Amino acid sequence: MGLIVMKFGGTSVADAERIHRASARALAAQRAGHKVVVVVSAMGDTTDDLLDLAKSVCTFGGREIQPPKREMDQLLSTGEQVTIALMAMAIHAQGAEAISLTGGQIGLVTDASFSKARIQSIDKKRMLDALDAGRIVIVAGFQGVTPEGDITTLGRGGSNATLVALGAALSADVCENYTDVDGIYTADPRIVPNARKIERISYDEMLELSGLGASVLQTRAVEFAKKYKVPLHVRNSQNENEGTWIVSETPNMENIVVSGAALKKDLIRVTVREIPDVPGVAARVFGAIAQANVVVDDIIQTLDREGNAYISFTVEHGDLHDIRQAVDGLVKGFGGTCHADYATDLAKVSVVGVGMRSHTGVAQRMFEALAQSKINIDNITTSEIKISCIIKRDDGPKALKIVHDAFELGGASGKP
Ligand code: ASP
Ligand code: MG
Repeated sequence: MGLIVMKFGGTSVADAERIHRASARALAAQRAGHKVVVVVSAMGDTTDDLLDLAKSVCTFGGREIQPPKREMDQLLSTGEQVTIALMAMAIHAQGAEAISLTGGQIGLVTDASFSKARIQSIDKKRMLDALDAGRIVIVAGFQGVTPEGDITTLGRGGSNATLVALGAALSADVCENYTDVDGIYTADPRIVPNARKIERISYDEMLELSGLGASVLQTRAVEFAKKYKVPLHVRNSQNENEGTWIVSETPNMENIVVSGAALKKDLIRVTVREIPDVPGVAARVFGAIAQANVVVDDIIQTLDREGNAYISFTVEHGDLHDIRQAVDGLVKGFGGTCHADYATDLAKVSVVGVGMRSHTGVAQRMFEALAQSKINIDNITTSEIKISCIIKRDDGPKALKIVHDAFELGGASGKP
């Protein structure tokens, strides 16, 4: 007996039948003696549909105008509100008691950064009272309110953040994340058909993988789970199989050298050339980029013989417009022969595993595998538990398969 927080993503509540199936799961857990809190996303593609609707309303006089962010959140939060009410009705129809609650109704207070708000506090009382009264509590994911009472949203995929935040606030025994896949895979199974479901993975490995393009879980949700040591269980809502457990690291995890491989498909490398090499230039470059709200990784700085600095870094393709603006301003500011160029056809293939800390030769094995397939490596970056290679975008899928094979991660040849 314990407290379970379960979350159903959009596809798991896409229609009446699926809502009933999700409800039946919540009920089964309650009948097994647990207290059950359910977090839900908007049904199916509702959030995307609402975004499209906003876009069409905001196209006026032939121009597309940015909608006010507050109104956008007011709009997007409606998707989840539909699901909670329907889910509570479905549970009622199945003969049990449930109550639906919005972010505001559970006092989920956030800052006022509309569209990417951060959770500040949660008031547990209403949920605990309802649980004590024998009800299943259904909470709208992805939404909160500012201290002033304005509705905010937590960023795309934000129901995961709600799941983990509730798990932490309620000291849940487990957070179950129901999706339409069986768990976290050793690589994206759409690219690598023999990818295998991972049984257990540490928070740190999952953080690296989700930052590298494995998109099942929002990075922020995993950070939160790690901070509060909430075990996360990612599983399929359409079957009873065990999924993937994301948990604190245990000593025997280091026996597995590489846990997974990932591919980021669409990267740009920006190189700012011939910058005067004086203290403070890197701070100036990355200050301007932070101002533009662009996330960078894989930073490399080198010097030429004349003493000029070259700084290059990668960003996601979607940030091209913002990054160009920021970098153009910088180049003008530095003056002289400073200029920038953009390589727009790159990808990044990575391997991740806590076992890298205690095993040697991992990098070599990866580079050799790529070399044997004549895939050229542009840049290499590492962390304690990750090795990444920047390669040509067209080589991406092949490279992922190759490194996945090189570390024998696959189901057929892999070591379970
Ligand atoms: N409905 C929101 C989205 O599609 C939140 C979520 O699904 O987690 O991004
Ligand atoms: Mg969704």
